[in-house]
Amino acid sequence: MHSFRYVDGSLKCEGVDLNTLASEVGTPAYVYSSETIRSNYRRLDLALSPLGDRMICYAMKANGNLSVLNLLAKEGAGFDIVSGGELFKVLKAGGRADRCTFAGVGKTAGEIDYALRQGIYSFNVESEEELEMINAVAAKAGLIAPIAVRVNPDVDAPTHKYISTGKSKNKFGIGLDRAAAVYERAASLPHLKIRGLQTHIGSQILKAPPFAEAVGKLTPLVLELKAKHGLEFFSIGGGVGIVYHGALSSGDSAWWKGSDENGVETKVERLAPEAYAAEVIEPLRALGLRILFEPGRFIVGNAGVLLTSVLYRKSTPTKNFVIVDAGMNDLIRPALYEGYHEIEPLLQPPSEQLEKVDVVGPVCESGDFFAQDREMPVLAPGDRVALMSSGAYGFVMSSTYNARPLLPEILVEGETSTLVRERQSWEDLIRGERLP
Ligand SMILES: *Cc1c(COP(=O)(O)O)cnc(C)c1O
Repeated sequence: MHSFRYVDGSLKCEGVDLNTLASEVGTPAYVYSSETIRSNYRRLDLALSPLGDRMICYAMKANGNLSVLNLLAKEGAGFDIVSGGELFKVLKAGGRADRCTFAGVGKTAGEIDYALRQGIYSFNVESEEELEMINAVAAKAGLIAPIAVRVNPDVDAPTHKYISTGKSKNKFGIGLDRAAAVYERAASLPHLKIRGLQTHIGSQILKAPPFAEAVGKLTPLVLELKAKHGLEFFSIGGGVGIVYHGALSSGDSAWWKGSDENGVETKVERLAPEAYAAEVIEPLRALGLRILFEPGRFIVGNAGVLLTSVLYRKSTPTKNFVIVDAGMNDLIRPALYEGYHEIEPLLQPPSEQLEKVDVVGPVCESGDFFAQDREMPVLAPGDRVALMSSGAYGFVMSSTYNARPLLPEILVEGETSTLVRERQSWEDLIRGERLP
Protein backbone atom coordinates (compact mmCIF):
# COMPACT_ATOMS: atom_id res chain seq x y z
CA MET A 1 0.00 0.00 0.00
CA HIS A 2 1.13 3.54 -0.61
CA SER A 3 -0.20 7.05 -0.22
CA PHE A 4 -0.09 8.41 -3.78
CA ARG A 5 -3.41 8.82 -5.57
CA TYR A 6 -5.37 11.09 -7.87
CA VAL A 7 -7.98 13.28 -6.25
CA ASP A 8 -10.10 15.30 -8.69
CA GLY A 9 -7.51 14.85 -11.42
CA SER A 10 -4.43 15.88 -9.45
CA LEU A 11 -1.86 13.57 -7.96
CA LYS A 12 -1.56 13.73 -4.19
CA CYS A 13 0.97 12.39 -1.73
CA GLU A 14 -1.09 11.88 1.43
CA GLY A 15 -2.84 15.27 1.82
CA VAL A 16 -0.35 17.26 -0.25
CA ASP A 17 -1.03 18.27 -3.84
CA LEU A 18 2.12 17.43 -5.79
CA ASN A 19 1.63 20.01 -8.54
CA THR A 20 1.29 22.79 -5.95
CA LEU A 21 4.35 21.45 -4.13
CA ALA A 22 6.31 21.39 -7.40
CA SER A 23 5.41 25.06 -7.96
CA GLU A 24 6.80 25.89 -4.53
CA VAL A 25 10.05 23.88 -4.52
CA GLY A 26 10.69 23.63 -8.26
CA THR A 27 11.62 20.52 -10.21
CA PRO A 28 13.26 18.10 -10.24
CA ALA A 29 12.61 17.09 -6.62
CA TYR A 30 12.19 13.93 -4.57
CA VAL A 31 9.07 13.57 -2.39
CA TYR A 32 8.60 10.88 0.26
CA SER A 33 5.49 9.77 2.15
CA SER A 34 5.96 9.22 5.90
CA GLU A 35 2.73 7.25 6.08
CA THR A 36 3.90 4.81 3.39
CA ILE A 37 7.29 4.23 5.02
CA ARG A 38 5.69 3.69 8.42
CA SER A 39 3.00 1.38 7.12
CA ASN A 40 5.51 -0.72 5.14
CA TYR A 41 7.63 -1.12 8.27
CA ARG A 42 4.69 -1.93 10.54
CA ARG A 43 3.12 -4.34 8.13
CA LEU A 44 6.33 -6.31 7.70
CA ASP A 45 6.97 -6.32 11.44
CA LEU A 46 3.44 -7.54 12.12
CA ALA A 47 3.72 -10.29 9.51
CA LEU A 48 6.95 -11.46 11.18
CA SER A 49 5.62 -11.15 14.74
CA PRO A 50 5.02 -14.93 15.17
CA LEU A 51 8.82 -15.20 15.32
CA GLY A 52 8.96 -13.38 18.63
CA ASP A 53 12.58 -12.29 19.07
CA ARG A 54 13.35 -10.35 15.87
CA MET A 55 14.93 -7.13 14.70
CA ILE A 56 14.28 -5.29 11.45
CA CYS A 57 17.50 -3.56 10.43
CA TYR A 58 16.53 -1.14 7.68
CA ALA A 59 19.17 -1.27 4.91
CA MET A 60 19.74 2.47 4.80
CA LYS A 61 21.74 2.46 1.60
CA ALA A 62 18.31 2.43 -0.10
CA ASN A 63 17.45 5.89 1.26
CA GLY A 64 19.61 7.59 3.86
CA ASN A 65 17.90 10.93 4.38
CA LEU A 66 18.15 11.81 8.10
CA SER A 67 14.39 12.36 8.31
CA VAL A 68 13.72 8.85 6.95
CA LEU A 69 16.22 7.34 9.40
CA ASN A 70 14.69 9.31 12.25
CA LEU A 71 11.20 8.16 11.35
CA LEU A 72 12.29 4.51 11.30
CA ALA A 73 14.35 4.83 14.50
CA LYS A 74 11.17 6.04 16.20
CA GLU A 75 9.39 2.94 14.92
CA GLY A 76 12.04 0.86 16.68
CA ALA A 77 13.98 -0.17 13.59
CA GLY A 78 17.65 -1.08 13.67
CA PHE A 79 19.88 -0.31 10.69
CA ASP A 80 21.97 -2.31 8.27
CA ILE A 81 24.94 -0.11 7.38
CA VAL A 82 27.67 -0.49 4.78
CA SER A 83 30.10 2.29 5.72
CA GLY A 84 31.32 4.44 8.59
CA GLY A 85 29.48 7.37 7.04
CA GLU A 86 26.20 5.48 7.29
CA LEU A 87 26.77 4.81 11.01
CA PHE A 88 27.52 8.50 11.50
CA LYS A 89 24.19 9.35 9.84
CA VAL A 90 22.26 6.81 11.95
CA LEU A 91 23.65 8.36 15.13
CA LYS A 92 22.86 11.89 13.90
CA ALA A 93 19.30 10.77 13.14
CA GLY A 94 18.72 9.40 16.64
CA GLY A 95 19.32 5.71 15.87
CA ARG A 96 21.16 3.36 18.19
CA ALA A 97 24.54 1.79 17.38
CA ASP A 98 23.66 -1.36 19.31
CA ARG A 99 20.90 -1.98 16.75
CA CYS A 100 23.24 -1.68 13.75
CA THR A 101 24.79 -4.42 11.67
CA PHE A 102 27.76 -3.50 9.48
CA ALA A 103 27.88 -5.24 6.08
CA GLY A 104 30.12 -4.84 3.03
CA VAL A 105 33.19 -6.48 1.52
CA GLY A 106 35.56 -3.53 1.95
CA LYS A 107 35.42 -2.17 5.52
CA THR A 108 38.51 -0.10 6.29
CA ALA A 109 40.43 -0.22 9.59
CA GLY A 110 39.20 3.30 10.35
CA GLU A 111 35.57 2.34 9.80
CA ILE A 112 35.95 -0.80 11.91
CA ASP A 113 37.51 1.18 14.75
CA TYR A 114 34.73 3.78 14.67
CA ALA A 115 31.94 1.18 14.60
CA LEU A 116 33.57 -0.82 17.39
CA ARG A 117 33.89 2.20 19.67
CA GLN A 118 30.27 3.17 18.99
CA GLY A 119 29.22 -0.34 20.07
CA ILE A 120 27.51 -1.80 17.01
CA TYR A 121 25.55 -5.03 17.30
CA SER A 122 27.53 -7.03 14.73
CA PHE A 123 30.12 -6.84 11.99
CA ASN A 124 28.89 -9.03 9.15
CA VAL A 125 32.20 -10.38 7.89
CA GLU A 126 32.69 -11.13 4.22
CA SER A 127 36.20 -12.66 4.09
CA GLU A 128 38.84 -14.35 6.21
CA GLU A 129 41.22 -11.41 5.85
CA GLU A 130 38.53 -9.09 7.16
CA LEU A 131 38.14 -11.35 10.21
CA GLU A 132 41.86 -10.94 10.98
CA MET A 133 41.60 -7.18 10.45
CA ILE A 134 38.64 -6.79 12.83
CA ASN A 135 40.50 -8.83 15.45
CA ALA A 136 43.60 -6.64 15.05
CA VAL A 137 41.65 -3.38 15.29
CA ALA A 138 39.76 -4.66 18.34
CA ALA A 139 43.02 -5.74 20.01
CA LYS A 140 44.49 -2.28 19.50
CA ALA A 141 41.39 -0.67 20.98
CA GLY A 142 41.29 -3.15 23.86
CA LEU A 143 37.75 -4.17 22.89
CA ILE A 144 35.89 -7.31 21.81
CA ALA A 145 34.24 -7.14 18.36
CA PRO A 146 30.90 -8.95 17.86
CA ILE A 147 30.85 -10.71 14.51
CA ALA A 148 28.72 -12.78 12.16
CA VAL A 149 29.99 -14.39 8.99
CA ARG A 150 28.08 -13.74 5.78
CA VAL A 151 27.55 -17.14 4.22
CA ASN A 152 26.70 -17.47 0.57
CA PRO A 153 24.13 -20.26 0.16
CA ASP A 154 24.55 -20.47 -3.62
CA VAL A 155 20.86 -19.92 -4.27
CA ASP A 156 19.69 -18.58 -7.60
CA ALA A 157 17.11 -15.88 -6.94
CA PRO A 158 15.52 -14.52 -10.11
CA THR A 159 16.53 -10.85 -10.41
CA HIS A 160 18.73 -8.59 -12.51
CA LYS A 161 22.32 -9.82 -12.80
CA TYR A 162 23.73 -6.65 -11.21
CA ILE A 163 21.70 -7.13 -8.02
CA SER A 164 22.01 -10.89 -7.56
CA THR A 165 24.36 -11.68 -4.67
CA GLY A 166 23.65 -15.19 -3.40
CA LYS A 167 25.39 -17.21 -6.11
CA SER A 168 28.92 -18.53 -5.68
CA LYS A 169 30.16 -16.43 -8.60
CA ASN A 170 29.27 -13.20 -6.74
CA LYS A 171 31.85 -11.32 -4.67
CA PHE A 172 29.74 -11.50 -1.51
CA GLY A 173 30.07 -13.77 1.51
CA ILE A 174 31.91 -16.99 2.20
CA GLY A 175 30.96 -20.30 0.56
CA LEU A 176 29.07 -22.96 2.52
CA ASP A 177 32.05 -25.31 2.17
CA ARG A 178 34.42 -22.83 3.90
CA ALA A 179 32.06 -21.43 6.52
CA ALA A 180 32.69 -23.92 9.39
CA ALA A 181 36.46 -23.42 9.09
CA VAL A 182 36.06 -19.64 9.14
CA TYR A 183 34.01 -19.88 12.35
CA GLU A 184 36.76 -22.09 13.85
CA ARG A 185 39.27 -19.40 13.01
CA ALA A 186 37.01 -16.70 14.46
CA ALA A 187 36.65 -18.69 17.69
CA SER A 188 40.42 -18.79 18.03
CA LEU A 189 40.86 -15.02 17.73
CA PRO A 190 40.81 -13.48 21.22
CA HIS A 191 39.26 -10.13 20.34
CA LEU A 192 36.24 -11.51 18.51
CA LYS A 193 32.92 -12.66 19.89
CA ILE A 194 30.87 -14.85 17.58
CA ARG A 195 27.34 -13.48 17.62
CA GLY A 196 25.53 -14.72 14.52
CA LEU A 197 25.36 -15.83 10.94
CA GLN A 198 24.15 -13.68 8.08
CA THR A 199 23.08 -14.24 4.50
CA HIS A 200 21.61 -12.08 1.73
CA ILE A 201 20.64 -13.58 -1.62
CA GLY A 202 20.03 -10.47 -3.72
CA SER A 203 17.68 -7.60 -4.32
CA GLN A 204 14.28 -7.04 -5.98
CA ILE A 205 13.22 -10.68 -5.47
CA LEU A 206 9.51 -11.20 -6.09
CA LYS A 207 9.15 -14.83 -5.09
CA ALA A 208 9.33 -16.17 -1.54
CA PRO A 209 10.67 -19.71 -2.13
CA PRO A 210 14.32 -18.67 -2.75
CA PHE A 211 14.42 -17.09 0.73
CA ALA A 212 13.15 -20.30 2.33
CA GLU A 213 15.54 -22.30 0.19
CA ALA A 214 18.47 -20.23 1.47
CA VAL A 215 17.42 -20.78 5.09
CA GLY A 216 16.99 -24.50 4.40
CA LYS A 217 20.46 -24.82 2.91
CA LEU A 218 22.02 -23.00 5.85
CA THR A 219 20.07 -24.73 8.65
CA PRO A 220 22.43 -27.70 9.32
CA LEU A 221 25.39 -25.31 9.49
CA VAL A 222 23.56 -22.84 11.74
CA LEU A 223 22.52 -25.60 14.18
CA GLU A 224 26.06 -26.97 14.26
CA LEU A 225 27.55 -23.52 14.89
CA LYS A 226 24.92 -22.76 17.50
CA ALA A 227 25.91 -25.88 19.46
CA LYS A 228 29.61 -25.16 19.10
CA HIS A 229 29.93 -21.40 19.34
CA GLY A 230 26.67 -20.23 20.89
CA LEU A 231 25.14 -18.15 18.08
CA GLU A 232 22.66 -15.51 19.16
CA PHE A 233 21.14 -14.45 15.83
CA PHE A 234 20.52 -15.44 12.24
CA SER A 235 20.05 -12.74 9.62
CA ILE A 236 18.16 -13.59 6.45
CA GLY A 237 19.23 -10.32 4.79
CA GLY A 238 16.98 -8.15 2.66
CA GLY A 239 15.88 -8.32 -0.94
CA VAL A 240 12.08 -8.38 -0.85
CA GLY A 241 11.05 -6.77 -4.13
CA ILE A 242 8.34 -4.27 -4.97
CA VAL A 243 6.06 -3.80 -7.99
CA TYR A 244 7.32 -1.11 -10.33
CA HIS A 245 4.74 -1.75 -13.07
CA GLY A 246 1.27 -0.40 -12.40
CA ALA A 247 2.68 1.37 -9.34
CA LEU A 248 -0.26 3.70 -8.96
CA SER A 249 -3.18 1.39 -9.56
CA SER A 250 -1.86 -1.80 -8.05
CA GLY A 251 -3.18 -3.12 -4.82
CA ASP A 252 -1.65 -6.13 -3.15
CA SER A 253 -3.17 -8.72 -5.37
CA ALA A 254 -2.30 -6.80 -8.51
CA TRP A 255 -0.46 -8.33 -11.40
CA TRP A 256 2.06 -6.65 -13.53
CA LYS A 257 3.18 -7.42 -17.02
CA GLY A 258 6.89 -7.94 -17.15
CA SER A 259 9.10 -9.91 -19.41
CA ASP A 260 11.16 -12.88 -18.32
CA GLU A 261 14.79 -13.34 -19.26
CA ASN A 262 13.81 -14.79 -22.63
CA GLY A 263 11.86 -11.65 -23.45
CA VAL A 264 8.49 -13.36 -23.07
CA GLU A 265 5.72 -11.30 -21.52
CA THR A 266 4.76 -12.81 -18.19
CA LYS A 267 2.54 -11.90 -15.30
CA VAL A 268 4.19 -11.59 -11.93
CA GLU A 269 2.37 -11.13 -8.67
CA ARG A 270 3.71 -8.79 -6.07
CA LEU A 271 5.40 -10.41 -3.07
CA ALA A 272 3.26 -9.28 -0.14
CA PRO A 273 4.99 -9.20 3.25
CA GLU A 274 2.48 -11.75 4.55
CA ALA A 275 3.36 -14.15 1.73
CA TYR A 276 7.05 -13.70 2.42
CA ALA A 277 6.49 -14.27 6.14
CA ALA A 278 4.35 -17.33 5.52
CA GLU A 279 7.20 -18.93 3.60
CA VAL A 280 10.10 -18.12 5.92
CA ILE A 281 8.63 -18.19 9.43
CA GLU A 282 8.65 -21.97 9.92
CA PRO A 283 12.22 -22.59 8.72
CA LEU A 284 13.42 -19.57 10.71
CA ARG A 285 11.62 -20.60 13.88
CA ALA A 286 13.32 -24.00 13.69
CA LEU A 287 16.68 -22.26 14.24
CA GLY A 288 15.70 -21.12 17.74
CA LEU A 289 17.61 -17.83 17.38
CA ARG A 290 16.87 -14.12 17.24
CA ILE A 291 16.07 -13.36 13.60
CA LEU A 292 17.27 -10.25 11.78
CA PHE A 293 15.78 -8.84 8.58
CA GLU A 294 17.50 -6.23 6.41
CA PRO A 295 14.86 -4.80 4.08
CA GLY A 296 15.75 -1.67 2.12
CA ARG A 297 13.69 -1.33 -1.04
CA PHE A 298 10.60 -2.86 0.54
CA ILE A 299 10.45 -0.13 3.20
CA VAL A 300 11.03 2.96 1.04
CA GLY A 301 10.72 1.99 -2.64
CA ASN A 302 7.06 2.82 -3.20
CA ALA A 303 7.20 5.69 -0.66
CA GLY A 304 8.99 8.11 -2.97
CA VAL A 305 8.48 9.86 -6.29
CA LEU A 306 10.72 12.03 -8.41
CA LEU A 307 8.90 15.10 -9.74
CA THR A 308 10.11 16.42 -13.07
CA SER A 309 8.91 18.91 -15.71
CA VAL A 310 8.71 18.54 -19.46
CA LEU A 311 11.16 20.94 -21.14
CA TYR A 312 10.83 20.13 -24.83
CA ARG A 313 9.42 17.71 -27.36
CA LYS A 314 11.43 16.51 -30.30
CA SER A 315 10.66 14.10 -33.14
CA THR A 316 12.92 12.13 -35.44
CA PRO A 317 11.67 9.89 -38.29
CA THR A 318 11.55 6.93 -35.87
CA LYS A 319 11.04 8.41 -32.40
CA ASN A 320 9.14 10.97 -30.38
CA PHE A 321 11.20 12.30 -27.50
CA VAL A 322 9.88 14.04 -24.41
CA ILE A 323 12.79 15.82 -22.74
CA VAL A 324 12.41 16.36 -18.98
CA ASP A 325 14.49 18.30 -16.44
CA ALA A 326 15.53 15.24 -14.39
CA GLY A 327 18.39 13.10 -15.67
CA MET A 328 20.19 9.83 -15.10
CA ASN A 329 22.40 11.61 -12.55
CA ASP A 330 19.26 12.12 -10.43
CA LEU A 331 17.78 8.62 -10.87
CA ILE A 332 20.14 6.06 -12.35
CA ARG A 333 18.06 2.88 -12.05
CA PRO A 334 16.89 2.74 -15.69
CA ALA A 335 20.44 3.24 -16.99
CA LEU A 336 22.14 0.99 -14.43
CA TYR A 337 19.82 -1.99 -14.13
CA GLU A 338 17.17 -1.48 -16.71
CA GLY A 339 14.91 -0.31 -13.89
CA TYR A 340 11.31 0.47 -14.79
CA HIS A 341 9.36 3.44 -13.39
CA GLU A 342 5.76 4.35 -14.12
CA ILE A 343 5.42 7.97 -15.21
CA GLU A 344 2.25 9.75 -14.09
CA PRO A 345 1.22 13.32 -14.95
CA LEU A 346 0.71 15.48 -11.84
CA LEU A 347 -2.46 16.84 -13.48
CA GLN A 348 -4.43 14.28 -15.44
CA PRO A 349 -4.68 15.50 -19.04
CA PRO A 350 -8.16 16.30 -20.34
CA SER A 351 -7.75 14.00 -23.33
CA GLU A 352 -7.38 10.22 -23.11
CA GLN A 353 -5.17 10.26 -26.21
CA LEU A 354 -1.93 8.28 -25.95
CA GLU A 355 1.28 8.51 -27.95
CA LYS A 356 4.40 6.36 -28.01
CA VAL A 357 7.39 8.30 -26.68
CA ASP A 358 10.87 8.07 -25.18
CA VAL A 359 11.15 10.09 -21.98
CA VAL A 360 14.73 11.31 -21.73
CA GLY A 361 16.82 13.63 -19.57
CA PRO A 362 19.27 16.44 -20.42
CA VAL A 363 22.49 14.52 -19.67
CA CYS A 364 24.95 13.93 -22.52
CA GLU A 365 24.59 10.13 -22.57
CA SER A 366 22.35 7.89 -24.65
CA GLY A 367 21.68 5.91 -21.46
CA ASP A 368 19.90 8.96 -20.05
CA PHE A 369 16.31 7.81 -20.41
CA PHE A 370 13.38 7.03 -18.12
CA ALA A 371 11.14 5.27 -20.64
CA GLN A 372 11.52 3.94 -24.17
CA ASP A 373 8.72 3.42 -26.67
CA ARG A 374 6.12 3.84 -23.96
CA GLU A 375 2.46 4.71 -24.52
CA MET A 376 1.95 7.91 -22.55
CA PRO A 377 -0.66 10.66 -22.30
CA VAL A 378 0.30 13.54 -24.60
CA LEU A 379 2.64 15.84 -22.68
CA ALA A 380 3.50 19.46 -23.48
CA PRO A 381 6.36 21.68 -22.27
CA GLY A 382 5.66 22.84 -18.73
CA ASP A 383 3.66 19.73 -17.82
CA ARG A 384 4.92 17.92 -14.77
CA VAL A 385 5.12 14.20 -14.13
CA ALA A 386 6.05 11.89 -11.28
CA LEU A 387 8.48 9.02 -11.73
CA MET A 388 6.79 6.57 -9.40
CA SER A 389 8.45 4.21 -6.90
CA SER A 390 11.67 6.20 -6.76
CA GLY A 391 12.08 6.08 -2.98
CA ALA A 392 14.77 3.37 -2.99
CA TYR A 393 18.13 3.66 -4.75
CA GLY A 394 17.03 7.04 -6.10
CA PHE A 395 18.53 10.10 -4.44
CA VAL A 396 21.24 8.03 -2.71
CA MET A 397 22.73 7.02 -6.06
CA SER A 398 22.57 10.49 -7.56
CA SER A 399 25.61 12.47 -8.62
CA THR A 400 26.48 15.91 -9.89
CA TYR A 401 27.47 14.56 -13.33
CA ASN A 402 27.25 17.34 -15.94
CA ALA A 403 27.60 19.83 -13.01
CA ARG A 404 23.97 19.31 -12.09
CA PRO A 405 23.29 20.20 -8.43
CA LEU A 406 21.86 17.49 -6.16
CA LEU A 407 18.08 17.60 -5.78
CA PRO A 408 16.00 18.63 -2.79
CA GLU A 409 14.12 15.99 -0.79
CA ILE A 410 10.72 16.64 0.75
CA LEU A 411 9.04 14.55 3.44
CA VAL A 412 5.24 14.61 3.56
CA GLU A 413 3.27 13.89 6.71
CA GLY A 414 -0.48 14.28 6.25
CA GLU A 415 -1.12 17.81 4.99
CA THR A 416 2.40 18.98 5.81
CA SER A 417 5.47 18.91 3.61
CA THR A 418 8.95 19.57 5.00
CA LEU A 419 12.06 20.32 2.98
CA VAL A 420 14.40 17.72 4.48
CA ARG A 421 17.28 18.46 2.11
CA GLU A 422 17.92 21.73 0.32
CA ARG A 423 18.53 21.85 -3.39
CA GLN A 424 22.25 22.32 -4.03
CA SER A 425 23.36 25.60 -5.54
CA TRP A 426 26.04 26.20 -8.14
CA GLU A 427 28.23 27.44 -5.29
CA ASP A 428 27.79 24.02 -3.61
CA LEU A 429 29.13 22.42 -6.78
CA ILE A 430 32.55 24.04 -6.36
CA ARG A 431 32.79 23.79 -2.55
CA GLY A 432 36.15 22.26 -1.68
CA GLU A 433 37.61 22.74 -5.14
CA ARG A 434 40.51 25.09 -5.68
CA LEU A 435 42.77 26.37 -8.41
CA PRO A 436 46.44 25.35 -8.12
C1 LIG B 1 21.55 -4.02 -0.19
C2 LIG B 1 21.47 -4.93 0.98
C3 LIG B 1 20.26 -5.10 1.65
C4 LIG B 1 18.96 -4.46 1.19
O1 LIG B 1 18.56 -4.91 -0.05
P1 LIG B 1 17.07 -4.55 -0.57
O2 LIG B 1 16.96 -5.25 -1.86
O3 LIG B 1 17.01 -3.08 -0.71
O4 LIG B 1 16.12 -5.06 0.46
C5 LIG B 1 20.25 -5.89 2.77
N1 LIG B 1 21.38 -6.50 3.22
C6 LIG B 1 22.56 -6.36 2.59
C7 LIG B 1 23.75 -7.05 3.13
C8 LIG B 1 22.65 -5.57 1.46
O5 LIG B 1 23.82 -5.44 0.83
